[in-house]
Amino acid sequence: MRIGHGYDAHRLVPGRALILGGVSIPHEKGLLGHSDADVLTHAVMDALLGALALGDIGAHFPDSDPAYAGADSLCLLGRVVELVSGRGYRIGNLDATLLAQRPRLAPHIGQMRENLARVCGLPAGAVSVKATTEEGMGFTGREEGIACHCVCLLLPKCLEADTMV
Ligand code: MG
Repeated sequence: MRIGHGYDAHRLVPGRALILGGVSIPHEKGLLGHSDADVLTHAVMDALLGALALGDIGAHFPDSDPAYAGADSLCLLGRVVELVSGRGYRIGNLDATLLAQRPRLAPHIGQMRENLARVCGLPAGAVSVKATTEEGMGFTGREEGIACHCVCLLLPKCLEADTMV
């Protein structure tokens, strides 16, 4: 088995859409980035790549490449999932934590989980997304940005899928 950890943070700015886990969330600011700046999906990708010691998304999808301008991060995640499979692994589970003071993310968590699960080919029960504030502290607390951590477990594909809870 392999475990991986991913971390990402993006700045909140006016005039951008706020997209988390492929869900467009109504808010007066959105995340700044070369792609759609979906910080949750980026942390998931970095966890998957990290589990296989394959570097990070910056190495695979460089922000200097115009091909990734405004990219749908769920599409990029699909490519990372193919990479994982190509290496002989499948995803056991994902557990992500978003750090955001505002907006309130709870109403959108279910759709984020469904989106990530669909792209990863997992049941929603294998995809955990949580959100917390940092109680006004730090850059997330000041609403300067949103950050996300994710850990994942990869299993060799030769292990039966039904051994998974
Ligand atoms: Mg990012």
